[in-house]
Amino acid sequence: MKFAIVDIQGYIVNNEFTVKELAIYDGKDLKSYLFKPTFNYHDLNTTDRKTANYLYHNIHGIPYESVDVDYSEIHEILENNLSSIDVVFVKGQAKADFLTRTLMSWVHIINLEKDTTGQVPNLELTKENCNNHKLKCCNCSIRNVYVLFNYVYNKLIGF
Ligand SMILES: [Zn+2]
Repeated sequence: MKFAIVDIQGYIVNNEFTVKELAIYDGKDLKSYLFKPTFNYHDLNTTDRKTANYLYHNIHGIPYESVDVDYSEIHEILENNLSSIDVVFVKGQAKADFLTRTLMSWVHIINLEKDTTGQVPNLELTKENCNNHKLKCCNCSIRNVYVLFNYVYNKLIGF
């Protein structure tokens, strides 16, 4: 069985979870992407602006307007990186729902939030972040995939 860990830091735009920072780690290769916003900040409605500000200041510290990869490439990126993967582990319902909607149907998605052992690491705000984050203490998807990979790997080889 080939597996990979995926983590996403995002924004909610028009009631839709929208990827900002994506990290994929299969134990060998780490891939990470920062996506352009799907709407300009000044085109967001008041609720989305408030949510965006909240997520920036309290969760991931990635500026809404940061630009790198065009959002239209996200399907191709996920397909290319996960084409030979059987199982994707992710932590968080919004992220799992996004992957279920987006990924090829044969990829099995496991939401580690539903793991009841109480041993799944918390994805806390830390100072170990990549350069995408402009605040000191943030949630970084790159750090998160490493943390979750260690957990999953140790659990699987424990069988
Ligand atoms: Zn990061």
